[in-house]
Amino acid sequence: MLTDNPLCKHDYVDLNNMPRIPDELIDFENYVKFKRPLYETNFRGMPVITSRGCPYKCTFCPNVILSNQDYRVLNAENTLNMVEYYVRKYEIDYLRFRDDNFFSAKDKVKIVLEGLINKELGIQWGGSCRVNYFREGYIDDKLLNIMVKSGCRRLYMGAESGSNKMLKKLKKGITAEMTLKAAEMCNSYEIEPYFSFMVGLPGETKEDLFATVNLMRKIKQVCPKANFLGKPAIFKPYPGGELYDECIKNGWLRESCAIEDWFASDLKGMYYVNKRIPWSSQASLTKAIQAYTGIAFMNDDLRKRWWLLRVPLLVLKAVASFRIRFNYYGLPIDKYIYEFLFWLRSFKNFVSTKFMRFKLLKKRTLG
Ligand code: SF4
Repeated sequence: MLTDNPLCKHDYVDLNNMPRIPDELIDFENYVKFKRPLYETNFRGMPVITSRGCPYKCTFCPNVILSNQDYRVLNAENTLNMVEYYVRKYEIDYLRFRDDNFFSAKDKVKIVLEGLINKELGIQWGGSCRVNYFREGYIDDKLLNIMVKSGCRRLYMGAESGSNKMLKKLKKGITAEMTLKAAEMCNSYEIEPYFSFMVGLPGETKEDLFATVNLMRKIKQVCPKANFLGKPAIFKPYPGGELYDECIKNGWLRESCAIEDWFASDLKGMYYVNKRIPWSSQASLTKAIQAYTGIAFMNDDLRKRWWLLRVPLLVLKAVASFRIRFNYYGLPIDKYIYEFLFWLRSFKNFVSTKFMRFKLLKKRTLG
């Protein structure tokens, strides 16, 4: 089992006693420029991590399995020093706090944000958060004002499911109503929330799946700026987790005792998921919902897509929106057209990369 692996057992270092990372050893310019038009447009951005682990116990999360609940935090002073160092030295204008759960250390976060304001760093930032923090005494109007003043632009939150029954099973400590409230509050403060969802959970029914689609639609209604982190991920059971045990108990998976077996089995790799989703009784519907929510909620700015894709994508998006509104997933011809278009785009990218390489080689040979 993963949790028996000696490599996973170690003493943690105190983040506040760690030496500075010798950033002069790498060419930072290769890492701070973000020119991906569909994502962080025109930013000099960089990720920072100011804590390790997470105190929660969600049943699907590798943090729990890897005993990473020993939540360790870089204190406010060290966090501010690190941020100021990078921002001033590399002229950073967008910071992404990539902690597993940045807002868990609420008191520290408040001091850090006030520090960003006082130091007049003039950056924008995004960070990981939880929807249940949007309440009086936590992320309330007072803190939201500080967040906005300090440059908060994006928050990344796991909504996971629209079904409270499934959320209970995931031990996520949130409800669909909390997710909606978080979206509403982000909308009031012009913060862009990014939500992630999961489908294909063990025990998930048709109604649970429809509740997830419904919540995604409602989020877009109350907060048009809201985004979803790609299409909903298909749940993947990790050895050592409660839901993995359920899959084994019910015979949906064969037991994998060694980590090597685990990587070689149905569960290969971190992101690969067995396409049959044997632990789901709604495998076809799950895949259809995953595909159609992905199309319906794809990045709205189609002007940034390859010109040949723009009109067909507009039509496919409208059809997908209709489907998820009425929960109709039969005759998936449009899904095949969508997949073909993306195959075409990959082919075009492949050919243009080869062509560029050929031109470069020719230039070097003649020069
Ligand atoms: S809150 Fe997020 S990081 Fe923490 S255990 Fe749950 S899923 Fe994992």
